[in-house]
Amino acid sequence: MSKDEQGLSTLCVHAGELEDTHGSPHTPVYNTTTFKFRTTADVLDVVDGRKAGALYTRYGLNPTIFALEGKLASLEGAEAAWVFCSGMAAEAALFFTHGGKGIACIGDAYGGTLELLGSQLPQFGVRTHLLLGSELDLLEARLREGCGLVFLETPTNPRMEIFDIASIAELAHRYGARLAVDNTFASPVNQRPLELGADFVVHSATKYLGGHSDITAGALMGSKDLLAPVWNWRKNLGQMIAPETAALLSRSLRTLVVRVERQNATAQAVAEAMARHSRIERVFYPGLAGFHGHVLAKRQMKGFGGMLSIDVKGGGAAATRVADRLKLFALAPSLGGAESLVTQPCTTTHHGLMPEERARRGISDAMLRLSIGLEDAADLIADLDQALKE
Ligand code: PLP
Repeated sequence: MSKDEQGLSTLCVHAGELEDTHGSPHTPVYNTTTFKFRTTADVLDVVDGRKAGALYTRYGLNPTIFALEGKLASLEGAEAAWVFCSGMAAEAALFFTHGGKGIACIGDAYGGTLELLGSQLPQFGVRTHLLLGSELDLLEARLREGCGLVFLETPTNPRMEIFDIASIAELAHRYGARLAVDNTFASPVNQRPLELGADFVVHSATKYLGGHSDITAGALMGSKDLLAPVWNWRKNLGQMIAPETAALLSRSLRTLVVRVERQNATAQAVAEAMARHSRIERVFYPGLAGFHGHVLAKRQMKGFGGMLSIDVKGGGAAATRVADRLKLFALAPSLGGAESLVTQPCTTTHHGLMPEERARRGISDAMLRLSIGLEDAADLIADLDQALKE
């Protein structure tokens, strides 16, 4: 069976792993900053690109990093993957390399992404356009003006808005632009944007790919041609992951499918329980039949993910009270780990936005975002029930 035909669980375990002369079943940690050569001619072969090989870890030329990148590329069905020291580093390298003609970001994105695009990159003359999900019809005008890169998350943070990757990719390509999808919330288990027509996939590997709330990392996947120029930005911005972290991330990826499938099932059970709860105003979860993005999510996703948001009846103070009373859910602003987490976006991920901007984006103070971990669904629902009691 060729590697192209192998299933995702098999790829999680075996893809990218390098042969080890001592028989280790996986690539060891090469915890070194530099690699030695026999002759100057050998050094030049690697430096000039005639031979692939290890050279210097900040460049990514380290076997532990090669192995991780091979695994990450196969999980997203990409020709190539570059790994970074954080999700924001991956995004920044992408924007610096391919954002020169302008970047349009559609819908709710992670707060750091909005800050980078909204106020930091424009300081270097990069034209950026932040469009709400409801303003998708304005995208074509931006593309007609020459905007070269479209960026979106789907599902979005924190309202779980779903965008049609195939049709947005088709529109971007019609104008010679590229589409980048932040696939952090879905993970490649639930969604493979490159197969739907996207040109880049970006990940905060800190979340589901890492999966244990113990590493900070990022990744960018795409074709070899499009990724080639990103390499120098990563090298000279010094955005490389440490070898120990790279090995930990490879370790985590071996269990990705098992973890995410369990998180999908538990999130569905929690979402259904919250949809029935008398103290909940609204549930944002793509797996609920009544959710506005459900039909599209069913078409382009294999599973609906481990993230959901709820609007608690009674406004911001009521939501804060629930967050503070939860016992099993930890009050922390991240996602994708084994431990379930709760966060009130207006106090954390979207605290940096003005209240009017949050309201314009439909992020109410009454909203709590839940990251479903690997605990039993019944225990998580019981915890929410006790915290929601009047
Ligand atoms: N993308 C999404 C969807 C995120 O949630 C985050 C962080 O929360 C990032 C990107 C940034 O990732 P990192 O914290 O690894 O830099």
